[in-house]
Parts: sequence; structure tokens; C-alpha cells
Amino acid sequence: MTLKNPQLVRRDDSLPNQNSKARLNAKADRVNTQMLLKMVLNNMTQGVLMFDADTRLVFCNQRYLDMYRLSSNLAKPGCALRDLLDQRMEAGTFSGDPEEYIATLLERVAGGKTSYDTCKLADGRVFSIVNKPMAGGGWIATHEDITERQRAEERIAHLAGHDALTDLPNRTLLRTQLEYELKRVKRGECLAVLCLDLDYFKGVNDTLGHPVGDELLKVVADRLRGCVRELDTIARLGGDEFAIIMTALRQPSDAAALAKRVRDSIAQPYLIDGHQIVVDISIGISIAPIDAIEPDQLLKNADMALYGAKADGRGTFRFFEAEMDARMQARRTLEMDLRKALHHEEFELYYQPLVNLQTNEISVYEALLRWHHPTRGLISPAEFIPVAEETGLIIPLGEWVFRKACQQTVNWPDHVKVAVNLSPAQLKNRNVVRMVKSALEDSGMAGNRLQLEITESVLMQNTFATLATLHELRKLGIQIAMDDFGTGYSSLSYLRSFPFDKIKIDRSFIDDLSNGAEPLAIVNAVAGLAKCLNMVSTAEGVETQQQLEQLLSVGCTEMQGYLFSRARPACEIEELFLPQLGKASDMKDAQRQEGAAASGVA
Ligand code: C2E
Ligand code: MG
Ligand code: MG
Repeated sequence: MTLKNPQLVRRDDSLPNQNSKARLNAKADRVNTQMLLKMVLNNMTQGVLMFDADTRLVFCNQRYLDMYRLSSNLAKPGCALRDLLDQRMEAGTFSGDPEEYIATLLERVAGGKTSYDTCKLADGRVFSIVNKPMAGGGWIATHEDITERQRAEERIAHLAGHDALTDLPNRTLLRTQLEYELKRVKRGECLAVLCLDLDYFKGVNDTLGHPVGDELLKVVADRLRGCVRELDTIARLGGDEFAIIMTALRQPSDAAALAKRVRDSIAQPYLIDGHQIVVDISIGISIAPIDAIEPDQLLKNADMALYGAKADGRGTFRFFEAEMDARMQARRTLEMDLRKALHHEEFELYYQPLVNLQTNEISVYEALLRWHHPTRGLISPAEFIPVAEETGLIIPLGEWVFRKACQQTVNWPDHVKVAVNLSPAQLKNRNVVRMVKSALEDSGMAGNRLQLEITESVLMQNTFATLATLHELRKLGIQIAMDDFGTGYSSLSYLRSFPFDKIKIDRSFIDDLSNGAEPLAIVNAVAGLAKCLNMVSTAEGVETQQQLEQLLSVGCTEMQGYLFSRARPACEIEELFLPQLGKASDMKDAQRQEGAAASGVA
């Protein structure tokens, strides 16, 4: 008899036991899986629910209940969708018609396609909802809170269409809005586009710093908001440029009234960071459909009108006129020609004598720029200097003038002085003192033979740097004259801010001398002031003997004008007024050669 392997016996014995254990294990596994699943579902960031084909709830996770503020006692398996919606309505998390909602949902489920929706709750939260149909009926719904994401997206979209400093719409949004508003113009309405530009804003930035400039722009934006109706759009186009779309315009004068309102508001003084600031605004207006019906053309026309307002002395508004377009084209052509002119040596300096009224001798020659345009002939500096200033070409052009004046007049007798005009942009340029020094050195011209003429506008944008530059130039022996006095603010504080050597009374006052006693009284006052301040007083534009006599009667000390001589080319000046020049320049050349030989440079 063979003994059975005890282990085998035991194993055989344990067979029925093992089956039930496996079953138990399987059940435990199932329970574990269900618990795990429940745990996972309840810890999801999305609300998840399942409905059967009879629109009854099979399950929903805790997150769903929390999102819609529902009680787990009510929203439990078996609950009808309609009841669930009623509960949500009570909790304030459903608005709308439940029947309609259910009908739409069931129609989509029946269609077998997943549907995507966004719903906004009364408390402002935004949920994204996905309903995915299941095979055999019913569907799984996923609800996700996308409030923060949507806010972030909205913020980004807002930033893309708005200016960060003033929170006004930017150029892109303005254009979109204009396109939209112009649809109504096609249906018979009118609208106006106003382009606005602050006057002298750059001066605020330069003198008081950018933080004050920024603060000023914010207050300007607020004041603009206060000037328009809700249906109008204000935008910041960049820097100190703004624009307004004025809708539902009845007549062009409505736009003029708005422009006046804006100007009155903007011109009120500002108190920022302890600084009292005054700025003004220039405004250009174009009207749809009169001037254009395309957004870009309307903006361009308003911009051209703005340019016209600036040219008319700023602090004013102008409507677009067709000729402005032609003028703008002409200006652009002039600018292009001007860029070429310096290389092509199309410039020449003329000189106009100024006469000392006490000695009756020529005291100084003013260098005046002339442009021999290849097709237009001689062009007045009054026409091209402003363009050169705007485009920055005045810097190389001004340097050319200064160097040329030094070279051409260095051989004129030592007592003959030469005046050169200096634009504000030149004076603000950091290199101006270096340029002047180098031109003096290169030509051998003595600083004390030079006078520089600057206008009041230089000091209207008064900066420490400008005054420091003027003092540096004066240290080189150069005299400084205030040109065209009376055309700017004529502020006495300008005369106090710097020890000018000369005041040149603007031609317009001399022109007016025959019109009663008042103009003479003004010239008298300026001449008296100059005398007290130890300055020369020069009358500009003297054309008649009568004017000269009036000027002598009020004690003017110098005159310039056609009565004595027009501006002439250097060679004519030499021939007419400096006949002794040949000898003097020979002597000077000999002296220079001696000096060079002594220093071993010859
Ligand atoms: P400004 O400096 O006041 O120069 C005097 C202007 O008055 C000159 O005009 C001169 O020809 C003119 N003028 C002189 N006497 C009379 C007169 O009796 N009657 C009349 N009707 N006019 C007279 P111009 O040469 O046309 O220059 C105009 C302005 O252009 C100058 O005024 C000056 O501001 C500017 N300018 C000229 N050359 C330069 C330059 O090289 N640089 C700069 N920055 N500006 C210049
Ligand atoms: Mg001048
Ligand atoms: Mg002048």
C-alpha cells in the first residue's frame, strides 16, 4: 500500500475552501475598486454625474454637489433630472426654463454627439459643461469651474485692446470700434473722428520727469472721459495722442462744440506731485460720410486736420479740408528733397547787415540760410526750417550753417561780428557745445566774434540743461541774442532766466508802427527794458525812413531791414561793405601761417 503524499491530501482537502476565498477576495477587490472609484470621483476638480436612459441620476460626485450648493440627501441616485434642476433653482444655481433645458439636452443626447456648453451663474461663476451620450441611452456630464481661466483670458483680451496707463482703448480697438460704428453711417448716420495731441507735453516729461508726465496723461484721460457721452469712444493712440469717435452726429458744429469742451477742460491747470502744470491741446476733426467713409482714411484726415491745427499755432481745432491733403503731399515731397539737399550742396548762406544806430556802422551780419532747390528755385527758410526741425534734419543742417558761417567770415575784419540762428532742437542736442567748439577750432574763428540768435520757444521748454548749454556757449565768448521777441509769451521771466546780450524786437511790431501810438509804446517799453538790463535793442524788418525815425525817438540801439540792405550772398557783402577785406585777409593768412610755423604744424 502506497502512502498518499500528505501534502497532496491536504491540498485536495482545501479545494472547496480555496474557491470561496477567491470569491471573497474578488468581492473585496470589487468593493475596494468601488471605494477607490468613489474616492477618485469625489476628489476630482470637476463635477461628474451619470444619467440613465430615463433621465434619472445614476451617480454624482461630491464636487458637483459643492459646485451647485446641493444636498447629498436630495441629489442621490434615482433622482430625476427635473428634480435636480428644481433643487438647483432653489439653491440659486440654475436660471432659465428647466423644461426647455431638458428638451434641448435630450435632443442632443439622442443625436449621439458630445455637446459643449458654458453657463454663467448668478454669482458670476462660469462653468463649462460637457454632456457625453452613452451607448444604450443615458449620458455622462462633466462640469468644470472655469471662472478664473475665463477672467484671465478676459484680462489678456482687455490688455490687448487697451492702453495700460490710462485704461483707454488703444489704436487697434479704436479702429475696430470705428469700423463697427461706420456701419451705421452707411445706413444714413454721421459721425466725427477727433484726433487730439497735447501741446508742449514733451516739455513736461523733460522738465518734471516721466512719472509726472504719466500722471498728467491719466488725469487728461479722465478729463476726456468727462467730456463725452457714453456712446462715444475715447482712445489713446500713444504718447500724448488721443482720439474720440463721436457717434450720432446731427451736424458738424456738434463736433466743434465737443472740441471746444475738450479744450476748455484740458487747458485747466493741473496740480501733480506738487507741480502746477498747464498744457493745451490741438484737435483735428474729420466727418463721415463727408470726408471719408473708410476707417483708415477718416483717421488719416483727422490727423491731417490736427497737423493743420498745430501749424495754426496749437491750442485750437481744425476741420479736415481737401487742400490739407495736397499740402501734406507737398510737405512730404519737401521733406524728401530736404534730405537730399545737404548731400547735393544745394544750400547757401546769405548775410544781412545790422546797423548800430549810435555809430551808424554795421555791427554784425546775420547769416540767413538759402536753399537753391533744383526745380523750385530759391525756397524761403520760413518754409523749410520748420520741416527740418520736425524731422530732426535741423541738427546736421544747423551744423552745416554754423561751420559754413565760421569758414566764410573768419577772414572778415576782427571787429565784424556774425550772427547765426539756432533752433530749439539744436540747443537741446547734447553735442551742440562740442560742435560749436570744434567748428571754432577748425575754422580759427574767435568765439567773441559770434552771436547766436535763439527764440523764446527755447525757454518755453525751459530746462536746466538748456540754460547750462547757453552758459557754456557764453563761456566761449559767444554773445546770445533773443530773436523775434514779442511773438511768444514775451515773458519777462525769460529775460531774467538768462543774461541775454541783445533783444531783437520782432518785425511785426515795426510793421505796425504806422498804426497809432500803441505799437510805438510797446517798442519804447522793450527798448527801455533792454537799456536797463544792459542789452542791445534791435528793431527787425525796418523798411522805411519813418520807421527808423520812430525807432531813434524811443532809443532803439540797432536796426536790421531792407531800408539798409537785404540779405546778400557772402561775395556781395565782401564787395559792398568790406572792400578792405583783401588786405585784411592777406594779413590774417600770414599771421596764421606764422603761428602754424612756430608750432611746427606748417
Ligand atoms: P529771423 O532770424 O528773424 O531773420 C530775419 C528775417 O527777416 C529774414 O528772413 C530776413 O530776410 C527778414 N527780413 C529782414 N529785414 C526785413 C525787412 O525789412 N522786411 C521784411 N519783410 N523782411 C525782412 P529769412 O531769411 O526768410 O529767414 C526767416 C527765418 O528763418 C529767420 O528769421 C530764422 O528764424 C529762420 N532762419 C533763417 N536761417 C536760419 C538758420 O540758418 N538756422 C535756423 N535755425 N533758422 C534760420
Ligand atoms: Mg534771426
Ligand atoms: Mg528775427
